[in-house]
Amino acid sequence: MSTIVNQRRVGWHLGLIAVLLFLHRVSAAEPPAWVADLRSAVAAELSAEALPLAQVQPAIEVTSTYDPAQGRMQGSMQVALHNDGAEPWSEIGFVLHANNARSYVGTGITINAATVDGRAVVPRLVADGRGVLLPLTTPLAPGAWTTCTLAFTTTIPEEGGRAGLLTRSAHGHHLYSWLPEPAIHRGGWDFPALVAFSDPSFVRAADYRWRLTLPTGWTLVAGGQESRQTDGTWLVLAPRIRNLVAWVSDQPVEVMRLTPPSGPEVRVAYIGKHTVRAAFCASVARDALIIASEMFGAYPRRSYDIVFATFALQVGGMEASGMTFLHEPLFAKLNWRGRDPLTDQENSLLHATIHEVLHSWWYDQVGNDTHREPWLDEPLTEWSTWYVMERLRSENTMQMLIGTRLPAMMAIAKESAPLDTAGDRMSEMQFGVLLYCRGPLMYQALRVEVGDDALFAALREWYRQHSGGVVTRADWDRTFLTLLPEERRAAFTRSWLTGTDDPVPASMDLVLKSGQAASIRQMVENARSAAAEQKPVAPVTPPPPATPVP
Ligand SMILES: [Zn+2]
Repeated sequence: MSTIVNQRRVGWHLGLIAVLLFLHRVSAAEPPAWVADLRSAVAAELSAEALPLAQVQPAIEVTSTYDPAQGRMQGSMQVALHNDGAEPWSEIGFVLHANNARSYVGTGITINAATVDGRAVVPRLVADGRGVLLPLTTPLAPGAWTTCTLAFTTTIPEEGGRAGLLTRSAHGHHLYSWLPEPAIHRGGWDFPALVAFSDPSFVRAADYRWRLTLPTGWTLVAGGQESRQTDGTWLVLAPRIRNLVAWVSDQPVEVMRLTPPSGPEVRVAYIGKHTVRAAFCASVARDALIIASEMFGAYPRRSYDIVFATFALQVGGMEASGMTFLHEPLFAKLNWRGRDPLTDQENSLLHATIHEVLHSWWYDQVGNDTHREPWLDEPLTEWSTWYVMERLRSENTMQMLIGTRLPAMMAIAKESAPLDTAGDRMSEMQFGVLLYCRGPLMYQALRVEVGDDALFAALREWYRQHSGGVVTRADWDRTFLTLLPEERRAAFTRSWLTGTDDPVPASMDLVLKSGQAASIRQMVENARSAAAEQKPVAPVTPPPPATPVP
């Protein structure tokens, strides 16, 4: 008798657990309660003009302690994210860029522990450690939310890192790719071995709140709003962030602040006697933020930080969300007494400043697969830079930029590649010429063909529709290719995007008013036919994968 009663009780308990599990699964249709608190806190850094996002972003709470002497970041993170795809997920993926031996030297992230919905799970490292997958007990339905935690340790070397990123130097420590970042699911989790010139940026944008413990005497600059708390720790409020990036230094850091009556505050952090140079950078960054906000849609945050770093490669700067690194030697080289510092081809500091600021629109807000489709953000960012320079000076400045970039086609005349080539299928020279010279020319050609009104309306739509998300070639075709009459689209695509037969398209004769396009076209054609004669039987083959740059 008692046994029967007990069995009934057991059955009743099992029923209750099933109901609770069901309720738990129902509640996963919404983010957990702590997310509302995080979002309202990070909203302090969100501009009042920030566009509403089409998609809900993950929320990420990070707590970490940095030991600068050892170059070790010990961290834990709590992540609330939802399945933003159309298929159920059986695992959750995070990118560990610092484990990519192809383009990072001496760095690494170790995952020490992980949980999913409160239960400990065994994290599975995949792709030579470039990604980690956390298993789910039940598949996560499209639109449903889950919460996971990760405990990690990141090693930051004294030399190496990635072209100066994720490296300790005498000036400061550059913290890029220092934490697990939410991966993007496209048919599966994918963790490519990025080459050094493909940005580590194909990750989901998220709202981040970060508490960092640093030794006394160290300063932090981070994307978002950073502040030292009364207990000595640092708090970073970072809404709508693609990459959470920071710089720490124990040097006497000066900060030049420019606070316009409206729009974001610009802060330039520097070490040494560089007051005037910092002022140039701050003012040109401020102007770029205002012009781009007017033309493309509002910059989403209340601040923008610039810090100076030393890169190992010939890199002018490196964009991040809400902040940027600029190459220190460029800073020291800026000479404002001679030529116009904005347009001086010998001094590219201000050009680099505008370029990195413009990435706030194209990369940070409108994301893309920077490994497979680097052409979706770099060329548009560089053309937008030229446009800002046109607005700050004149149409002659745009003409000067076109006239100096078009001849770069000579450098790859003998071995060209289509603009839509993946990063690891291009040489460094092809990457440089295609993405920073020819790609921007495509936008100027489109502008001349369809007119300012149509192009800028498309750019505003591109920003409005895809902020917080990632775009693909299909999205680009829908927004930009459709500006052209239907009968022009195939030829435009072949000339600019997918082909190599038309290095200097005929439209350049209208774009470059000096008339030099025809002679540049002739020179490129001559170089190509000379190369073809030398290798008469050589088939057109894609270039070999680029060698990793240490
Ligand atoms: Zn760029």
